[in-house]
Amino acid sequence: MAVGQEITGAELNEKFQALDMPAVYSPAECDRMAEMIVEIEALKKEHNAAILAHNYQRPEIYQVADFIGDSLELAKRGRDLEEDIIVFCGVHFMAESAKILAPEKTVLLPDMRAGCSLADSVDPDSLVERRDELKKVYPDLVVAAYVNTTAAVKAVVDVCVTSSNAVKVVEGLDSDHILFVPDEHLASYVQKETSKTIISWDGNCYVHHQITPENILSVKEGIPNLKVLVHPECRSDVVDLADAVLSTSGMVRYAKESEADEFLIVTECGLSDKLILEVPEKKFYKACKLCQYMKMITLEATLESLRTMRHEIELDEDVRAAAEKSLLRMFELS
Ligand code: SF4
Repeated sequence: MAVGQEITGAELNEKFQALDMPAVYSPAECDRMAEMIVEIEALKKEHNAAILAHNYQRPEIYQVADFIGDSLELAKRGRDLEEDIIVFCGVHFMAESAKILAPEKTVLLPDMRAGCSLADSVDPDSLVERRDELKKVYPDLVVAAYVNTTAAVKAVVDVCVTSSNAVKVVEGLDSDHILFVPDEHLASYVQKETSKTIISWDGNCYVHHQITPENILSVKEGIPNLKVLVHPECRSDVVDLADAVLSTSGMVRYAKESEADEFLIVTECGLSDKLILEVPEKKFYKACKLCQYMKMITLEATLESLRTMRHEIELDEDVRAAAEKSLLRMFELS
């Protein structure tokens, strides 16, 4: 996807026309971005660095990314990279996951303010307290954490899950009682798919939580063949309207492989932008909200990160090793 030195401001401008955001992608702004892209590509070579970008990033970040994907794909890709330095264009917990799986590499996050409301909704002390209370009632209790959690939380749970493998991992656990943290909506989706008892945490992603059934129905009206693709972090009354409930990368695959031509993408807006650019022959409608944390990662911050080698993700080795165990257990079960 990276285009490096060849891209010009005019080419960028032409490419971003499809996004219909003239105020953001004006010719002058595209010229400025093209200059930064050239410098970023040169610094990547100089420092032996690679850029990993999440599916929710800005379109101009895709231009400098060596790989674009969901959080787990990125962490796995980071582990297998030949480069010594990973600039992680995503949010903090994702950069931590990359560091957990590739401790020998330098992992940089361009802006340390790029957090996550969902990851912030659970901390290790409250989780251990709740787990210990519940174990008195359910001695077989297992704690499963969505990958959208801090390394410190991953370090105190039994297993991690992603939005695409959560049901399979839960089914594979040797327990009938699962404390599932932190996303209440993903927990409720998993509960519908399993006979096990899912005990949910009181957390959610503020982005997906804002999307309502009305947002979907108002677009769907009048487009009979529209396929509605919904992320399982959405509320259950929104999930109920889906033709398919998918992770971000699952949505990309589905849209490319499906015979349908028109889709409503119900997740963070960056994914619809990605699909508009990547699959121009199909039509994508949006019922989406912006994640302020994802959008904190800009070309300027990425360039500065490569110039100054900031901000490095550092983890205590005990925490890292314990968190890695929970991720590896997930790989075994999925
Ligand atoms: S979209 Fe939601 S889960 Fe993803 S980083 Fe933003 S707040 Fe966190």
